[in-house]
Amino acid sequence: MGKYEPVIGLEIHAELKTESKIFCPSSARFGGEPNTYICPVCLGLPGVLPVLNKKVVEYAVMAALALNCEIARFCKFDRKNYYYPDLPKNYQISQYDLPLAQYGFLEIDTENGRKRIGITRIHIEEDAGKLLHQGTVTTTPYSLVDYNRTGVPLLEIVSEPDMRSPEEARAYAEKLRSIIQFTGISDCKMEEGSLRVDANVSVRPLGSKELGVKTEIKNVNSFRALVRALEYEIERQVAILKDGGRIVQETRTWDEGKGVTLPLRSKEEAHDYRYFPEPDLPPLVITKEWVEEVYRGLPELPDARRERYVREYGLPAYDAGVLTASREVGDYFEACLRLYPQPKTVSNWVMGELARLLNATNTEIADSPVKPEQLADLLRLIDKGVVSGKIAKTVFEEVFRTGKDPQAVVKEQGLVQITDEAALKTIIDEVIAANPKVVADYREGKEKALGFLIGQVMKSTKGKANPAIVNRLLKEGIENKEI
Ligand code: ADP
Ligand code: MG
Repeated sequence: MGKYEPVIGLEIHAELKTESKIFCPSSARFGGEPNTYICPVCLGLPGVLPVLNKKVVEYAVMAALALNCEIARFCKFDRKNYYYPDLPKNYQISQYDLPLAQYGFLEIDTENGRKRIGITRIHIEEDAGKLLHQGTVTTTPYSLVDYNRTGVPLLEIVSEPDMRSPEEARAYAEKLRSIIQFTGISDCKMEEGSLRVDANVSVRPLGSKELGVKTEIKNVNSFRALVRALEYEIERQVAILKDGGRIVQETRTWDEGKGVTLPLRSKEEAHDYRYFPEPDLPPLVITKEWVEEVYRGLPELPDARRERYVREYGLPAYDAGVLTASREVGDYFEACLRLYPQPKTVSNWVMGELARLLNATNTEIADSPVKPEQLADLLRLIDKGVVSGKIAKTVFEEVFRTGKDPQAVVKEQGLVQITDEAALKTIIDEVIAANPKVVADYREGKEKALGFLIGQVMKSTKGKANPAIVNRLLKEGIENKEI
């Protein structure tokens, strides 16, 4: 960046996975036929009154505890007024000066070790409806509106401007998602919009303590887009400053197709929203006892789980990090471990073959066609010498493709390992006879030559020969062979 340093703060919205909406009984589910999960309350028809969903507060307290926040004993709701078609009441019920929680943090891994990122505040609010554009928001000839999402409970989690690179911003957003996912209060799916990231970014001369003028980027729909949008925006700002220009404080939108940020609207100030206390809802009083009760119900969180994997299972920190990046991966790993208690072996398969095939087929681990029981069965087949480690990968792929049990695959495809020494000896003699030069090399001390010969035996047995036996028989065969 030359002599400029980026400063980044993220505002993240997470939709809560409650049955009903925040202030009415309409379904809070994702999707549905447009404008079917609605009622007079979320449509803001005259005369209706909001009633707070207690589950929303419980979930918000869970998130606040998981993110090391202080929870307010007393907070209230406020109206944020603005006129936009996704908002039928013309105001959003949110929290302004007294949010539910403040002063939290989470930790990310950086090149220079662990770094703490401050969390300024967490508040509860209602989601707005969804506008459907043709193409992009800046070019669409008209927009359609779907109010199913109106009134779905949201957490807004605001970070301190503590990140210094797009990669740190990504690490923060991913860690936040993982923590929220572990608590089970949100799906945190960026592609379904249940996790939405707005990125605030400014640049300043390296060494400066003052903050530069920032822009806010919206419409960032993946972690990759977050990094790309920030990289673009940082470069844009630096170019303006180097040119002697000034940054305009504004809201911009990320255009994924063009790979650029574009101006969306000039920055609104808090007073533009005419915030005032929501008169239809009483303030929210949260007791210490209830917070403690919620705390006791919190599940194990990613950092704790990662430490446990190292401590209890003796896994390398790297493995532990990968296996605890999402709750589902960790749950799968532990399900396998209960059936086959060898952590490193299971870890290798989950991080290796399984991850590879899940990625290639774009499948979530929760929908893995290979069930933990099947992976454990396969590992036992290797231990018993029924299949070689190499063939096991073929079997695994077949189980993944068909969902059949490993035993059945091995039987159907004749993949049983060849341990019959007489049968192997015949093949080995052939290989020795066909490769006199390599055999001579081996005799002269070239260890690598043996590897080639083993490879030949494997080739003619289609990988089914037991490698240990082949190794021994080959050496014996070469020694016994008359020169
Ligand atoms: P706004 O007035 O736009 O609402 P806030 O102070 O509430 O600004 O901050 C919104 C987000 O922007 C927070 O995540 C904060 O960390 C971040 N932020 C604030 N100032 C800057 C800045 N100068 N550069 C980068 N990020 C910033
Ligand atoms: Mg703000």
